Amino acid sequence: MSKNLHVAIVGATGAVGIEMMRTLEKRKFPLGKLTLLASARSAGKRLPFLGGEVEVQELTEHSFKGIDVALFSAGGSISKNFAPFATQAGAVVVDNSSAFRMDADVPLVVPEVNGADVQGNRGIIANPNCTTAITLMALWPLHQAFGVTRVFASSYQAVSGTGAQAIEELEKQTREWAKSERKWDDVRLGGEHVRVYPHQIAFNALPHVDSFLESGYTKEEMKMENEGRKIMHHPSFRASVTCVRVPVFRAHSVAVSAEFAKPVTVAAAREVLGRAPGLDLVDDPTLKKYPLALDVAGKDHCAVGRIRQDCAFDNGLSFWVAGDQLLKGAALNAVQIAELL
Ligand code: NAP
Repeated sequence: MSKNLHVAIVGATGAVGIEMMRTLEKRKFPLGKLTLLASARSAGKRLPFLGGEVEVQELTEHSFKGIDVALFSAGGSISKNFAPFATQAGAVVVDNSSAFRMDADVPLVVPEVNGADVQGNRGIIANPNCTTAITLMALWPLHQAFGVTRVFASSYQAVSGTGAQAIEELEKQTREWAKSERKWDDVRLGGEHVRVYPHQIAFNALPHVDSFLESGYTKEEMKMENEGRKIMHHPSFRASVTCVRVPVFRAHSVAVSAEFAKPVTVAAAREVLGRAPGLDLVDDPTLKKYPLALDVAGKDHCAVGRIRQDCAFDNGLSFWVAGDQLLKGAALNAVQIAELL
């Protein structure tokens, strides 16, 4: 590929799209030209980039002429419909949606885990589910050292994982309650304030992320096992996950209990995690130091802590991993993939 690339962002006005622009800026990506694409609603909007402004264009099937890399972040149906036009025009697509993740001929990549898989791409490379990517940042180095067999995990997922409208919903609900000057035991808002999620998200925890499957798990919950197997090249990996949406604006946290094939100690795990790329070890509970959503928000690195011997597994560890899902779970990971190209 040529040195200075023509990059398009599809979904540039969205929560992830905006972070993609910031990430390209921050990492000094070798950019020849940037094209911003979104729906007709946003056409003509000007977004700040590198001290100037770039105008948003309406996404059409003709948008990809001359594009080298197209970063897609506008939902699965847009990816399904428009990625073929991008690849036909000669672009490599890095897709944030779940549209192609499990396709056999589409590499699913976390650069710190399986960056080499981009080599086999046939024009589309998929970015993993955000909760999975953040969890693997800690689980993969442990797997390399001790061989993970299965995990039980619960996620605490930020509203920005749902996109710009969900951010606005939590903001509005919180302001509405504060404005009313009601007391702490009177926080339920009227149904007119609930649009994006099935229930009020402010002051609540929703054990419901994505749609339910016949098994009782949600689609989001099964991504950890299915995508984890593909990314780690570990077909027997098992994961039982409960995904929970919490009233946090930015950054997902995941409580993980993992079982390993080999014996594992806390000291050995700390040693492994302390030198893992893209991961900070924040683990001194006596000093109240552990990963916090507020601390990882806006940061490229994920953080791991609360590492302890799991009391229910023989070769088990429990830990808490947090990361900015707009970055490592989406924009940063996508730009890292583009850098590998
Ligand atoms: P979002 O904030 O709702 O943004 C959606 C983007 O898609 C906007 O730019 C929107 O443009 C554009 N769009 C919608 N309909 C379109 C159409 N018909 N034609 C062209 N563009 C259209 O959503 P998001 O959170 O950024 O997520 C985007 C994608 O990334 C989703 O597939 C999501 O699953 C995935 N993802 C998100 C996260 C996360 O943390 N948010 C993490 C991993 C993956 P307008 O402004 O013009 O409507």
